[in-house]
Amino acid sequence: MICEKDLFNNLEGYCATDIIKIYRAYDLAKDKHSGQMRKSGEPYIMHPVNVAYILTQLKADADTVCAGLLHDTLEDTKTTKEELCDLFNPTIADLVDGVTKIRRIHFQSKREQNLANTRKILTSLTSDVRIIIIKLADRLHNMRTLEFHKVEKQQEIALETMEIFVPLANLVGSYWLKSELEDLSLFYLKPEEYQKAAEVRHKQEAGFMFLLDEMMENIHNELLSKGINNKMDKKIKNIYGIYKNFNEGNSLEDMHDLLALKIIVDNIPNCYFTLGLVHGLYHPLNSRFKDYICISKSNLYRSLHTTVFGPQEKLVQTRIRTFEMDNIAYNGLTANWNLKQEGQRDNMQKYFKDNFWAYNSIREIDKMFTDNDEFITQVRSELFADKVYVYTPRGERIELSKGSTPVDFAYKIHTDLGNNMTGVVVNGKEVDFNYVLQTGDVVIVKTDGLSLPMFTEKDVMTARAKRKIKERNKNI
Ligand code: MN
Repeated sequence: MICEKDLFNNLEGYCATDIIKIYRAYDLAKDKHSGQMRKSGEPYIMHPVNVAYILTQLKADADTVCAGLLHDTLEDTKTTKEELCDLFNPTIADLVDGVTKIRRIHFQSKREQNLANTRKILTSLTSDVRIIIIKLADRLHNMRTLEFHKVEKQQEIALETMEIFVPLANLVGSYWLKSELEDLSLFYLKPEEYQKAAEVRHKQEAGFMFLLDEMMENIHNELLSKGINNKMDKKIKNIYGIYKNFNEGNSLEDMHDLLALKIIVDNIPNCYFTLGLVHGLYHPLNSRFKDYICISKSNLYRSLHTTVFGPQEKLVQTRIRTFEMDNIAYNGLTANWNLKQEGQRDNMQKYFKDNFWAYNSIREIDKMFTDNDEFITQVRSELFADKVYVYTPRGERIELSKGSTPVDFAYKIHTDLGNNMTGVVVNGKEVDFNYVLQTGDVVIVKTDGLSLPMFTEKDVMTARAKRKIKERNKNI
């Protein structure tokens, strides 16, 4: 159980002024929530303390940690935004306001209120991504303490976590937040399946994890003898990951990434050298090699993945990356927090805007759909869906949401390419505009510069392509 002491002991790296500010935020939150209790019977202040603690684990800047401490004051106490502004600063006031639900009185029904709040959370990505991080920390602590709620409430919260917060954690690339939220949600949503997957995981861990020690030692020593500094770690898939595989019809033998070995080295050339060395020691399963260093995932995840036959013919997914990539793989966007730098909002926001295509997608979708229900449906199909990877004729890999068509592909590359597209060839064959792209497809967009494109909004999935087609039609 995390308490105030743990929070205060976790402030290494924060400067003296920051620490004083965090203490002040704690004092105010404690005062404002005094007399309030959580369902667990603890004083309410333990919740904001835990949220702030998670934020310090992420090395969030002091304003964000303070906002974590104060995050429920606007909603659950008589505190006003002006008060937070006067006592602290406008940034903290804005962050707390950003995580606060829109009041019930504005809506006809609970459902409408929920939809509006979800929209508020999602669009905050474009104003201050730190709001999302506070929300994720808030949700993680609520999920960790969900046992104290009634069953219906548990279901409602766990479902929302799975549908909105897990994809958000994935979108900002925070692996550890995502995987803990997944397991906790599954525990409440499908208790039987959860137990089954947990048992499989436990058996595999007890029966085979020691095999990885032998591999680790082998590879470590070989690398050292070549003068390559390295750090290794072993891992087993989370419970949700195992459940998902079973649910998709895979057997235990099909799970090539159940057991994983991580090798971290100093630089990119050493990653590829290590790959060769691993393949020399352990036979690779050729079909399972992926180079996410050359082309990262959309949440900036980078690593080489190769599945090899380990000891006792057990398949082991080996992940090779640099120390910096490893930090990003674990913490995602939050790896970019720098306690020594001023202006963390602008830093984070610029980083997010420059590196994550979700930023523009959310803005497009926000502009396009006034109805909250439609807005959320579009976000889910465009941003939260699984991804497919297709190729340009030059071999450039393009990431698209599952369900995208060649027209989405063309507009993703360039507006002119979309606007002048007259036909499309996929894997050497002419296909329709509404063909659904599959991973591995090689897409050639045909333009003749004369005829007008014959596709409509119905042939695309992404909000960007829909808007571009509308604009084009206006100009014809
Ligand atoms: Mn809360």
